Amino acid sequence: MNKFEELGIDAIIAKAITEMGFETPTPIQLEAIPELIKGNRDLIGLAQTGTGKTAAFGLPLTKLIDFEDRNTQALIICPTRELCLQITRDLQSFTKYVKSANIVAIYGGASIETQIREVSRGTQIIVATPGRMVDMIKRRRVKLQSIKVVVLDEADEMLNMGFKEDLDSILSETPSEKNTWLFSATMPYEVARIAKAYMSNPFEITVGKQNQGADNIEHKYYVVQARDKYSALKRIADYNPDIFGIVFCRTRMETQEIAEKLIRDGYNADALHGDLSQQQRDSVMKRYRGKTLNMLVATDVAARGIDVNDITHVINYNLPDDIENYTHRSGRTARAGKSGISIVIINSKEVFKIKQIEKQVGKKFIQDKLPGGVEVCEKQLIHLVNKIHDVPVNEREIEHFLPQVMELLKDLSKEELIKRMLSEEFNRFLDYYKNAPDLNVDSSRRNERGSEGASQSNENSGRFFINVGEMDDLNVLSLRDMVCKITSLDKDAVGRIDVKSSFSFFEVEPRLSQIVSEAFKGQKLNGRSVRVEASGGGSSTSRSRSRSEGGSGGSGSSGGGGGFRRRTGSSGGEGKGSYGGGGGSREKRDFSYGGKKSSTGGGDFKKKKW
Ligand code: AMP
Repeated sequence: MNKFEELGIDAIIAKAITEMGFETPTPIQLEAIPELIKGNRDLIGLAQTGTGKTAAFGLPLTKLIDFEDRNTQALIICPTRELCLQITRDLQSFTKYVKSANIVAIYGGASIETQIREVSRGTQIIVATPGRMVDMIKRRRVKLQSIKVVVLDEADEMLNMGFKEDLDSILSETPSEKNTWLFSATMPYEVARIAKAYMSNPFEITVGKQNQGADNIEHKYYVVQARDKYSALKRIADYNPDIFGIVFCRTRMETQEIAEKLIRDGYNADALHGDLSQQQRDSVMKRYRGKTLNMLVATDVAARGIDVNDITHVINYNLPDDIENYTHRSGRTARAGKSGISIVIINSKEVFKIKQIEKQVGKKFIQDKLPGGVEVCEKQLIHLVNKIHDVPVNEREIEHFLPQVMELLKDLSKEELIKRMLSEEFNRFLDYYKNAPDLNVDSSRRNERGSEGASQSNENSGRFFINVGEMDDLNVLSLRDMVCKITSLDKDAVGRIDVKSSFSFFEVEPRLSQIVSEAFKGQKLNGRSVRVEASGGGSSTSRSRSRSEGGSGGSGSSGGGGGFRRRTGSSGGEGKGSYGGGGGSREKRDFSYGGKKSSTGGGDFKKKKW
């Protein structure tokens, strides 16, 4: 007898889940299944996503439902469309061999008419997001009188997302004689209120400590200067050639910006946030699931319910406003028994927040040092060598070309050949990381600028004159936008801005002066040349070499260097890129600040896979 059958699950279901690879019940399944199949208990399950909770409630449901009856007998409410579809898929897989089983997903952003049609055919289990479910109830398109079980999954998330009233309304529409099973990663007051109002004598299961991250997640943080965060992100990605991660940002705009920068720098990344249409989000998720993307840049809300099992790294580009969300973020990795790494990129002023999160997740964070250029190169090189070593060779396909190739290479020894082959692939990377600065900041040091900033003379203050102003319809915000777009610098790298009628001043960190001077060369605004000069007199190009990573900030290297991962290169290393993205030449365009967003190059960037 299979281990799930021993817990009371029917053989026909056990067969299906064995085919899904479930051999041993997870701890939450071991505790929940025998109790829930009795059909007379309410439950509060404090469990993170990734613990196997879908099966913990889904398998008992299969036992309590009469699949010969087409009435709706169970209702599962969850916060997002993603999770809704995931749960539906799981339940459909569990009941693969139950012919009459019909499980329907109801969620916003898709045709309600189609969903009404599906429900009207008769469905034993509805999996729904709260808003759409309320809509269906109001339209009297669902019959709830036969409901035996209501499951509230990720209850805390649903309340976070403002579904409190919807939940109350749904729960009050269902028969009072039912079982309510509530799952939540945390137990804030509002969840406790729902439990109290709608459940009687529930039994509780806690998998792991409440709020605690899974044991198999390693938590790390890197302290860098605020303006180096993007460089740090790239350093992390380059040091982990097999990364399959989620990068969390705080706002939709930041999410979009970081994703665009990564794309421009040749990474297989894309953004997931609420400003995208459902279709766009689906397409991004499809590419992420299929691992065509290896970095998903997301907001907390958009990433909720993402159920992807092999995520290696969760990167907190910025910490969430609500510290509780850290647990949700980090829980995206280390799922289904795997291990994972949760990384926080932080500046020295934010270090105190680490202590707060440590308390919340009950785990110690390790302060780690970002690898230097040599370490990154070494890691990438070994990765490349391993790939070459293991690459499958299609003898038949290659056979035809070999004699000619052998002839061409016949004067090279094995050693020479290896050296040349590696150099061909690796020189760009070595170039890129040749002068890579140490991005680490000593977190005990109060002054973020450090000695470099302090030693700058007035002339190197990073203050710039620019020959555009109010007469060009610019204000502080649009000028900052324009500077950021042209230079590819982060918004927080641009300091004070003074907009006058026909000219303006803006400030950047002194070490970024070179980048600014270079980036503005040849730029135009509404057909007029834009002139930028260091306001202390003299040209900023004569200033000391920028510390900016990638060498393009002052080495005079032309476009095509830059982001290592890029195959079809536009210029620009970390913190530096030519405005407009696109081709390999330093193409300059007429800049229209109110116009279209800069192109991110779309699918053109084929990351070189190492
Ligand atoms: P969940 O917490 O329900 O999102 O489940 C996390 C992942 O673990 C899903 O991909 C499930 O398919 C998988 N899973 C759940 N239970 C088991 C089990 N007993 N054995 C192996 N994998 C499981």
